Amino acid sequence: MTASLSESVNSLSASAGNVGMAELQWCWRCRMMLPMLTDQEWEQIGALLSEMTSHVQSYRERTGATLPEALRRGFEEPALAKYRELTGFEETNVNALWHHRLSGHGPPCRHCGKLLRTAVARRCYECGSDSPLRSDKDE
Ligand SMILES: [Zn+2]
Ligand SMILES: [Zn+2]
Repeated sequence: MTASLSESVNSLSASAGNVGMAELQWCWRCRMMLPMLTDQEWEQIGALLSEMTSHVQSYRERTGATLPEALRRGFEEPALAKYRELTGFEETNVNALWHHRLSGHGPPCRHCGKLLRTAVARRCYECGSDSPLRSDKDE
């Protein structure tokens, strides 16, 4: 947890628009702008996701169902509903929730503003910049 990362993310949120507390940011996995959760918010989702995983597991043990069958039972609904509650965004793919976490990404690229894939990215995959990180000189 670095202070400088959260500071730069916070200053960006004013221009990137705010949906509740979560910040609308570029998700390179989903290829769209999505609400990225703070650690605090994500913890609530994470708890529901691990509950979902154990429900799916015990359902499969009980019934011998395949994973796709178990996933049709609606076990993901509490996690999706919580994400909706926190962000106002109608996500339907529960697997996407695992990575919609700000701290799982790098800071925004200083050229295109999209979140970098890691905190130490040497290159922005979105705009191709090879100096995507803000340095102290730029501030
Ligand atoms: Zn995503
Ligand atoms: Zn970029």
